Amino acid sequence: MPISLCKHSFPVTPPRGSMNHPGDCRGCDITYGQARAASRPARRRTTARKPRPAA
Ligand SMILES: [Zn+2]
Repeated sequence: MPISLCKHSFPVTPPRGSMNHPGDCRGCDITYGQARAASRPARRRTTARKPRPAA
């Protein structure tokens, strides 16, 4: 995903969105969910998981 300098402005008024479900960004068309996921720090991967032995 390309890094955008857009500060994101999500419409929270109909018809483009609502307070609970903001619409796509007016500047770059990213969805509110995508922007939220991108701004969230990446979770550390757990690599220590071992395959469960077959019963
Ligand atoms: Zn934006």
